[in-house]
Formats: sequence, structure tokens, C-alpha cells
Amino acid sequence: MAPLEYLRPSDEGAAIALAEADGRACLLAGGTDVVGLLKDGVLAPSRLVDINALPIAGVEIRDGGLSIGALTRLSDVADHPAVRGRFPALAHAVLAAASPQLRNMATVGGSLLQRTRCGYFRDPVTPCNKRAPGTGCSAIDGEHRLHAILGGSDRCIAVHPSDPAVALLALDAVVRTRGSRKERAIPVDDLYLLPGSTPERETLLEHGELIVAVELPATSFAARSCYLKVRERASFEFALVSAAVALDVRGGVIRTARVALGGVAPRPWRARAAEAVLRGSRMTEATIAAAASAAVRDARPREQNAFKVELVRRVLTRVLATAGAGG
Ligand SMILES: Cc1cc2nc3c(=O)[nH]c(=O)nc-3n(C[C@H](O)[C@H](O)[C@H](O)COP(=O)(O)OP(=O)(O)OC[C@H]3O[C@@H](n4cnc5c(N)ncnc54)[C@H](O)[C@@H]3O)c2cc1C
Repeated sequence: MAPLEYLRPSDEGAAIALAEADGRACLLAGGTDVVGLLKDGVLAPSRLVDINALPIAGVEIRDGGLSIGALTRLSDVADHPAVRGRFPALAHAVLAAASPQLRNMATVGGSLLQRTRCGYFRDPVTPCNKRAPGTGCSAIDGEHRLHAILGGSDRCIAVHPSDPAVALLALDAVVRTRGSRKERAIPVDDLYLLPGSTPERETLLEHGELIVAVELPATSFAARSCYLKVRERASFEFALVSAAVALDVRGGVIRTARVALGGVAPRPWRARAAEAVLRGSRMTEATIAAAASAAVRDARPREQNAFKVELVRRVLTRVLATAGAGG
């Protein structure tokens, strides 16, 4: 077994320096994804930088919005009264993720950066362009029932697994990061990359760059938001399809809409065509049907996952009706 150095700095600058100094270092938060990947031989870092001693946990109300420290446990996010009351889609999405025990360990930062559940990615002996660039994508000609219908490429069709990320996308959340040379504020909408010809690059983050917080701005649509996840069993399962919507409805007219999808693309997927249908319309059955269809207009399903197209329409129909109820 190759040697593995374990370090637990208590200072942000030191954590970043330790991670940046070793190209094979890996940050460790709750460890609920990293430890599984280590055990399965998918990840082989030379250094683990445990960030749990950093003072970046907790939820603060700031400028009418919320700042959620990257080390805040998912269970604490879901329990927070301001999250439940003002950003309900996030509370729903967090409670739909994993199990209570996992949510007690898993952090917001780790949830955003968890790796795909594609079985080929997680099996180190099969070809996978994301794990071992240039080896091929086993899913394209193999088992791809759970794979992407939107945003995939001929190199990778794995889907992004995070439930909270889908809600954060619909709520216009911004990720605050810190590296040794710069601090950045990256909208969740810009954080994730599509696979294209480099599926191994999943986000804009640089090696060692630390997420310090996720900020939820005060918006006119956050309070009327919800998240719905459809999965193959009632709990402890990743999404087949999920959707987060957030609406600003005044006088029966939708002023602003956000629609995000999970389980269907290599990143949390913003359904802008659906948003365009909703914007300026009355919340009628016809509007909902048109928005649900627009969301999958560009879908490119494969033989085994064509069912996801209709499932997206049905999930969106239900979640839009729920968020839109009450005029
Ligand atoms: C059995 C099981 C079922 C699950 N079901 C679901 C589910 O239904 N829905 C769902 O959304 N998730 C699910 N998960 C995934 C779980 O939510 C993630 O494993 C968890 O959110 C990761 O958080 P963590 O703090 O444990 O991250 P870690 O495992 O510690 O880290 C994950 C990644 O994030 C990086 N990282 C962590 N924090 C930071 C930071 N602050 N800055 C920069 N990089 C960072 C790490 O380097 C690593 O690459 C499941 C997991 C398991 C094991």
C-alpha cells in the first residue's frame, strides 16, 4: 500500500498551502464520499488534508440572505429555521439526500463536490475517461439506464449526484472560495463544467482551492421554492430525476422562475427553456405542460434511459403545481 500522509491544520491558510503544495493531496471534510473512494481504490492521494478543525461551520443571516459555512453538516442545514422558512427547496433537497446518519457527517462543501455514482467510475478496473482520461467511456455502450440525457458528451455520460446542489442552483446560490493567491465568489450556475473532451475536470475550482461558504441571496423567488426527487426506493437512494423550482408570482403572473434538474446531466442542470416559458405567464395547466416539455426539448436519451424524458416532464409538472399553488 502506498504511504498516505494525514494532516489536520486548524488555520485556513495552512490548509490551502498544504493542499496546493502536493498535486496529489485531497481535502477531507465529512469523509462520506472520500473514504468510500479510497477504500474502492478510485482515489489514491498521497496526502489527506482534514479540514474539520477550520472555523468554517454554521449558518449566519447576512444581508437578508444566508451564509452557510462549508463545514456545516447537512443535518444542521435542514434543521435551521431560516432555511426551512425562507429557502424551503434547500431544506427539502437536503432531507432527500442519503440517510440521517450520513447527513450528520456530510458537509455542504462536500455535497457540492461529491463524485458521480456512475458504476464504471467507481470500479477501478473498467475504462472510464473521468477516472482515467483516455481509457474510454464504458457506459456509452454498456449499462446506462441511470445516465445523462442532457449535457453528456462522447467521452462521458455520468450524472452529477448531489440533491442539495440542484436546490442551490435554483436559489441562485454563490460559492465563496479561497486559494493562496485569490478569493472568489462563484455562482453555482458557473461552478460546474460539462464533460466535453475533458470529463476529468468537473468544476472551475483549482487544485487545493477551499470552499469556505455557500451564500444564499435574498431573492423574490426563494420563499416559494420546492424540490422533488424520484428514486427507485423511498430512502437512501440517489435521484433518477429530481427538480427544484423557485417562483415569484404576483397577481397570478409568474415574474421570475428558476428551474433546475438533477439525475439527468453531468452537472446540476438549469432548464432555461422552461424558465422562459414560465416567465410572464399565468400558472395554468397549459403553462406547466409547456414548461415541462421545454425542459427536455434538447434531451438526447439513449436506449436504456429514454424513460427519463417522460419522468422529467412528470416530476416538473408536479413540482411546478406545488410551488405555484396559491396564485
Ligand atoms: C450510501 C450513501 C448514500 C448517499 N445518498 C445521497 C443522496 O441520496 N443524495 C445526495 O445528494 N448525496 C448522497 N450521498 C452523498 C453524500 O451526500 C456525500 O458523500 C456528502 O455530501 C459529501 O460530503 P462530505 O463532507 O462527507 O465530503 P467528503 O467526502 O469529505 O469530500 C467530498 C469531496 O469534496 C471535497 N471537499 C469537501 N469539502 C470541501 C471544501 N470545503 N472545499 C473544497 N473541497 C472540499 C473533497 O476533497 C472531496 O473531493 C450518499 C452517500 C452515501 C455514502
